[in-house]
Amino acid sequence: MTSLDTASPETDETTVAALCQQLLEELPPKHTDPVAFLGRQFDLGLAWVHFPVGQGGLGLSPRQQRTINETLYPAGAPIAAFRNVIGHGMGAPTLITHGTEAQKARYLRPLFTGEEVWCQLFSEPGAGSDVAGLATKAVLDGEEWIVNGQKVWTTLAHLAKWGMLVARTDPDQPKHKGMTYFVVDMHAPGVEVRPLFQITGEAEFNEVYFTDVRIPDSERLGEVGEGWRATLTTLMNERVAIGGGIPAKGAGFIGEAVKEWKAGGHTDAARRDALMALWVRAEVLRLTNIRASQLRAVGTPGPEGSIGKALSADLNKDISAFTVGLLGAEGMLKPDGYPMERPKHAMQWANPQQAFLRARANSIEGGTTEIAKNILGERVLGLPGDVRNDKDVPWSQVPRS
Ligand SMILES: Cc1cc2nc3c(=O)[nH]c(=O)nc-3n(C[C@H](O)[C@H](O)[C@H](O)COP(=O)(O)OP(=O)(O)OC[C@H]3O[C@@H](n4cnc5c(N)ncnc54)[C@H](O)[C@@H]3O)c2cc1C
Repeated sequence: MTSLDTASPETDETTVAALCQQLLEELPPKHTDPVAFLGRQFDLGLAWVHFPVGQGGLGLSPRQQRTINETLYPAGAPIAAFRNVIGHGMGAPTLITHGTEAQKARYLRPLFTGEEVWCQLFSEPGAGSDVAGLATKAVLDGEEWIVNGQKVWTTLAHLAKWGMLVARTDPDQPKHKGMTYFVVDMHAPGVEVRPLFQITGEAEFNEVYFTDVRIPDSERLGEVGEGWRATLTTLMNERVAIGGGIPAKGAGFIGEAVKEWKAGGHTDAARRDALMALWVRAEVLRLTNIRASQLRAVGTPGPEGSIGKALSADLNKDISAFTVGLLGAEGMLKPDGYPMERPKHAMQWANPQQAFLRARANSIEGGTTEIAKNILGERVLGLPGDVRNDKDVPWSQVPRS
């Protein structure tokens, strides 16, 4: 059975609401270990409600997820996405779309509970926006693949148990055709994770080196040479995970700005006008994301995910700059300094100064704003495509910088 035999959206909502109540009564979140709570949430099909029964879902419309979130979060339930942001937002949809039944059974539950953190091993020193140009190679040796190469900017690799790895398996094919997607054990011999400092002083991301790392063929996701298809699933979901958030009205970055405005006792009309303009932009983005989430069908999100990604990057930068400006001279100092930290979460901030610094990366991570605009121009507006001289040339013959 892959879905519940329910008759209408109203019936579905009643079913979901009843299961949420059951979960809250069985395991009151305030007195329950988060892993136990999230495990039961998964088993009841309330993890990703549109996933099949037995795989964390109930086979219902993704719209029902809102009922779950709005019931569980106010009751103090742990938020799975915070505990494993890359696994939750990108790993799970990639696994459900391209994984074997054995892979789904093995990975989804501990991913949701946060017992096994995931990271994304796509970018390389010579392949970021042009990720299909990547050079890390995997060579088949019996039932195993041997991987050599380097990845970079790998968020939370220092905490990850599993990595989503794309590697070149046939250099003589054009770049999009010779790649294969794997799940790699980040604790396997030959995997080396080194911290990279960010402007905030934290090392949220890493360099990752692979030296003769062995991956069983059973950990391949999708067919050999078809890695680009699974890569696109991850990337499309990444844009939604980063830019598609739907906070409560007036919450998130803009909420912090309003808080700072009130705390500082500001009254001047010009700055109030600027704050209101930002508030309106935040609300327009929130409503756009609600509309996009309601239109989104089950499966890989479409190119419209790039709207939220591009808009939220600019907005976060502008709001955090405004908020730091409210602090006056104090805004120039980061209260906690720049100690080397290895954070447990990505994209977090403890104070406006840190938010200002961290937000600079929003227009780079998950695909730059220029790339988001290219996608929107080509795939939404139907404008002429970017220049792609190397599209049909074997990867091994493309000059590399
Ligand atoms: C905080 C943070 C976290 C990250 N986490 C991860 C992670 O977990 N895993 C991972 O794999 N990667 C991660 N990345 C990497 C990120 O995906 C890349 O930095 C990004 O895709 C850009 O690639 P690049 O840095 O190589 O820049 P480049 O691709 O070299 O781009 C340089 C500049 O050229 C512009 N440009 C490039 N091509 C075009 C074009 N065709 N048209 C117009 N302009 C263009 C870009 O917009 C950019 O301004 C992270 C990055 C950051 C900042």
